[in-house]
Amino acid sequence: MTRVQGIKDYQCFIGGKWTSAESGETFESVDPFLAKPWARIPKCDQRDVDQAVSAARKALESGAWADMHASQRGQLLRKLGDLILRDADHLAATEVQDNGKLYAEMRGQVGYIPQWFYYFGGLADKIEGAVVPIDKADMFTYTRHEPVGVVAAITPWNSPLLLTTWKLAPALAAGCTVVLKPSEFTSASTLEFARLIEEAGFPAGVVNVITGFGTDVGEALTTHPGVDKIAFTGGENSGRHIARNAAQTFKRLTLELGGKSAQLVFPDTDIDNAVKGVVSGIFAATGQTCIAGSRLLVHDSIHDEFIDKFTALARTARMGDPMDMATQVGPITTQPQYQRVLFCIEMARNEGADCVMGGKPADRPECGDGWFIEPTVFANVSNSMRIAQEEVFGPVLSVIRFREDDEAYAMANDTAYGLAAGVWTNDQRRIFTAAKRLRAGSIWTNTYRAVSYMAPFGGFKNSGLGRESGQEAINEYLETKCVWMSYGKDVPNPFVMR
Ligand code: NAD
Repeated sequence: MTRVQGIKDYQCFIGGKWTSAESGETFESVDPFLAKPWARIPKCDQRDVDQAVSAARKALESGAWADMHASQRGQLLRKLGDLILRDADHLAATEVQDNGKLYAEMRGQVGYIPQWFYYFGGLADKIEGAVVPIDKADMFTYTRHEPVGVVAAITPWNSPLLLTTWKLAPALAAGCTVVLKPSEFTSASTLEFARLIEEAGFPAGVVNVITGFGTDVGEALTTHPGVDKIAFTGGENSGRHIARNAAQTFKRLTLELGGKSAQLVFPDTDIDNAVKGVVSGIFAATGQTCIAGSRLLVHDSIHDEFIDKFTALARTARMGDPMDMATQVGPITTQPQYQRVLFCIEMARNEGADCVMGGKPADRPECGDGWFIEPTVFANVSNSMRIAQEEVFGPVLSVIRFREDDEAYAMANDTAYGLAAGVWTNDQRRIFTAAKRLRAGSIWTNTYRAVSYMAPFGGFKNSGLGRESGQEAINEYLETKCVWMSYGKDVPNPFVMR
């Protein structure tokens, strides 16, 4: 795939119209492989947020969307899925240029994203209430599930299209309207995607995209009285701050936050498979995934063999232009994140961990001016070190030994996070025990980093609140109303509860 040459100008999408920010200001989006700006993005502020929220409110409460039958909503979602499939190459290339993810991964991901729209499109007209077999005489009682309202969907830079999809598909299926705010580092693919929303024929205001910084646009959105629900994916501190904002008007909230996921490798495992699984958990996507398996807990008896095989495979990783289908490890998406990863590497050294691979910026010629860091492995890490407790969000693995299964489970759970865990063993009893004892939202056994539109995803503890994907995700976008209808002849004693 080829890059956009020069600078591409984008507009935001509010109330069905393409528009500049009210301020007229823009900011640059930088291609992390070239470390050069390639796009200009509108710098929205409170005024644009007000317009987007009021467009979303209007579409929610009156007009074509409000009156639309759920089956038609489902058809629109499926049509959107088809359009994404049609334009998958273009969407994938945009995201690669904007955030440096591998084209090889993005093409597969964008080809799979339509499945969320098909799945939730299918669910749209299956949102059924229930008749409650109520214990009162002459009373008919039933429930309705209604759209929660205007949703502010805020996404991070590491997987803009996928994480937008995880919010948008169930929100629209539920009948909500949405204001999307992508990360200031990676707005372009969401804006390209909004063109397909327009083409699919969603009524004006159902989906709006505003762009800008967390501290102004994000803050204005999450404090806006016209927003009913926030669906946020991002860092733990931002999540905490947003939860406080949400509390002011008790906005509904889902949070998908960070992780420090453990990969547990037991002595009976097939080592070659486990090595591949641990590599995929920490070096795929350059470690910039919330589900990165950044702590390897490996049994003492196979520790040395595992590390030898692991580093041998990891050293073969081809780094370079993420547009090149042969590249396996791409750049760090943003310069601040590049600095953060280098800081964490220094921190691990200072704590006494042994760097057995990488541990420095990559100066390979094929990496050009991009923000590349060598795949890095620290051995002799103890679980209490900061490198074992803090999310790095980069290609840095901490290796910790264990001797007893109980010790491994205790260390895996000894973190503020609870997003995912990997378990490598051929022992059936260990698989079931681990699945029960590990406190994380996704447990992968003899595999890692698998996601599906059918499978609920989310975190325990500081990794978040609520679930995305799978049938239960739609409940995050619904309010339950209970309707009581008396058909009794007389209204009974008004001074006591019925
Ligand atoms: P971030 O929290 O800095 O930003 C995420 C989004 O929130 C951006 O759009 C940003 O503009 C916005 N934002 C920032 N401060 C805000 C505020 N005060 N009010 C409202 N909006 C605000 O996160 P990031 O650096 O873009 O992403 C990396 C983080 O995301 C990592 O911690 C990672 O683990 C997490 N993540 C989690 C998942 C998951 O599903 N659990 C998936 C991907 C990334």
